[in-house]
Amino acid sequence: MIVVVLYVVGHKKPDTDSIVAAIAYAELKRALGVEVEPRRAGELNLETKYVMEKFNAKPPELMESAEGKELILVDHNEPSQIVNGYEKAKIREIVDHHRLGGLITSEPIFVYIEPVGSTSTIIANWFKEKSIEIDKTLASLMLSAILSDTVIFRSPTCTEKDKRTAKELAVIAGIENLEELGIEMFKAKSRLAEKSARDIILTDFKEYTFKTMKVGIGQVETVDLSELEPRVGEILREMDAIRGERGYGMLVMMLTDILRRGSLLLYSADRREWFLDALSGIRMERRGDRVFYAPGIMSRKKQIVPPLSEYFEK
Ligand code: MN
Ligand code: MN
Repeated sequence: MIVVVLYVVGHKKPDTDSIVAAIAYAELKRALGVEVEPRRAGELNLETKYVMEKFNAKPPELMESAEGKELILVDHNEPSQIVNGYEKAKIREIVDHHRLGGLITSEPIFVYIEPVGSTSTIIANWFKEKSIEIDKTLASLMLSAILSDTVIFRSPTCTEKDKRTAKELAVIAGIENLEELGIEMFKAKSRLAEKSARDIILTDFKEYTFKTMKVGIGQVETVDLSELEPRVGEILREMDAIRGERGYGMLVMMLTDILRRGSLLLYSADRREWFLDALSGIRMERRGDRVFYAPGIMSRKKQIVPPLSEYFEK
């Protein structure tokens, strides 16, 4: 019997890339003779469920706690996003496409971070470099993860490498219309009419600490913003409540229209001027109290986090 001690796991509140990158990297490692299993750090979102069902794939098992385990982190490295109990685990590797977020390790580890649109892009290319075959199911999953993270190639985080990789995977997967698959995925993900304001805010939510300032940033990507516009007041009230409960200095919500390529930005903050000062470099049209439309703004990581980080860490 082989005793498995090493697990590949994505971030809490997993998205499609976090789930797929864990599956894909585990498959690559095993093909290279390393005994490793994929895990997930939380429940699947509706988009990922849709993708898993569509392509008949089995999602990884849930890791409740990482205590005493050895981990490979994919698609994240910020301590607040790592599976519970990681302080008592050994982190062996990180494969990611996000900023370095302050993790400290006791030993040297393998770290690979590349500024591309998705972790699945990185891993798909490693399969290719090592001449390891990608089967149809895995190709479909990695393609879906790239479409998800790059917002069907519209996000400013999307690179030529993502586009080329997606096209190669699409050939293996036998999928011709990437736009159609992407829109189906985003529709499955949002199902916004059925969601409470709290769910809308917290489904894709990340927490950051800039110096001593705790900031939460949520994002919803939709193919139809008009579904959300009438609910802006309700969402703002819920943001105020969540900020109070969790002690954030500021909470920002991005309601992103992927077809129009822009976001409604909502905020709740201890001091109102923080939002406008920190994001003064972004072109915004005022749409109401604490509501702005920002054309071209689609990426939390690339367009919202850096100016906030710079502002609060100064
Ligand atoms: Mn992710
Ligand atoms: Mn990702």
